[in-house]
Amino acid sequence: MPEARCDIVILGGGVCGLWTLHTLLHAGYDAWLLERSALGDGQTIASQGILHAGAKYRLPGNAVDASRTVAQSQSIWNQALSGGGQAVPDLSDVRIIDRRTLLWTTPSIGSRIAARGAAGILRSGVRKLDPGEQPAVFRDAPPGVEVYATDEYVLDPPSLLEQLAANADGRVRLLPDPTDLHIAAQSADAVEIQTGSITIKPAAVVLAAGEGNESLIALLGGQPGLMQRRPLHQTVAIGAPFDLNGHCLKLSLDKPALTVTTGNLNGERTWYLGGGPAEDGADRTPEAQIESAQAVLRRCLPWLDLSGLRFKTFTIDRAEGANNGKRPNDAVARWAAPGVLALWPTKLVLAPRAADMALEALRDRGITPTGKQGNEPIEALPSPGVAERLW
Ligand SMILES: Cc1cc2nc3c(=O)[nH]c(=O)nc-3n(C[C@H](O)[C@H](O)[C@H](O)COP(=O)(O)OP(=O)(O)OC[C@H]3O[C@@H](n4cnc5c(N)ncnc54)[C@H](O)[C@@H]3O)c2cc1C
Repeated sequence: MPEARCDIVILGGGVCGLWTLHTLLHAGYDAWLLERSALGDGQTIASQGILHAGAKYRLPGNAVDASRTVAQSQSIWNQALSGGGQAVPDLSDVRIIDRRTLLWTTPSIGSRIAARGAAGILRSGVRKLDPGEQPAVFRDAPPGVEVYATDEYVLDPPSLLEQLAANADGRVRLLPDPTDLHIAAQSADAVEIQTGSITIKPAAVVLAAGEGNESLIALLGGQPGLMQRRPLHQTVAIGAPFDLNGHCLKLSLDKPALTVTTGNLNGERTWYLGGGPAEDGADRTPEAQIESAQAVLRRCLPWLDLSGLRFKTFTIDRAEGANNGKRPNDAVARWAAPGVLALWPTKLVLAPRAADMALEALRDRGITPTGKQGNEPIEALPSPGVAERLW
């Protein structure tokens, strides 16, 4: 049986695994990433692509910590999107859908209450737009609708995955047979992976498989209960009349009434709808979820005729480090077994944090770069493509 040796194997090629690979390669590790199916085939391809800088987390009821942590990570993203450097990947070719995310109030809230709520979000990087500066979608909005712009970018997830992989020195490969995967964590620095006809002996394994981390931890007999799922029921509205990327504010709650990003399906403009309706609608049938999305659109954009929209929905879980069912304030890194570290970034924007946590955890355990080893059996594996969108 062909045998490979290396410092680190990362399992899972979403934003977290790919960013972690870049960080570990830059730190000198002989690291490889093995993907089950296609890059980002889970949450990253389904994400709305918003690089939260913290504005959303300053809505009433949200943790201040989350705001600080994401704001720090966002400066790393800005560096990456401007060409990278040092330990930061070059993401300058990633397609940016929008360079700002809007926050807008509904007319029913009224300008006084809206302004009071806005004071909570107006700490930095959030600017109120005069009517003349507002995008076309707000042209016919009634008085009382206030629009703010944040400097949060919206990225195209497939192009993000593509460019992260292109930066990986050819170290991203497909598992020969994901159903035939065995991991034995023997000691702190000796893990054995058997997959298809090859055996890999890395010093450590990093699990970055999103919700797949749960079954991988079970497979190797690791610590249970490290992961939580939070379900979402996403809706896609096809035939949208304007570009719109932002959050409709519902000031009394800790999440937006609606989060919208704009895309394209077979040449038609789409609105991808997340936020409150996606979080609250996990148990709804697709029909009920579409009715609910229509009602939220009527509340958030009542001046638009949206009767021509067509809808699709799908459900997907967010996979996160366990935090009593609440969104963690940061990325999460936990040792699941000796030599096996599990990572969950919590948000796209926190992928660099997850990567730094992995580096620190490996160094803390004395797992250091040893130089290139016998990689040939891994080098012979094919490279994965980017996942197809779920809609
Ligand atoms: C609907 C939705 C919208 C979101 N919108 C945003 C947003 O706008 N902004 C934001 O910051 N965050 C957003 N998030 C959160 C963000 O997308 C996730 O935190 C992030 O993408 C998780 O990345 P990941 O690499 O950990 O996991 P994933 O993207 O799920 O990647 C896991 C990878 O591991 C692979 N894999 C699975 N099992 C195995 C195995 N056994 N062996 C090898 N590989 C395996 C999968 O094929 C996949 O490629 C959203 C999440 C969802 C679900």
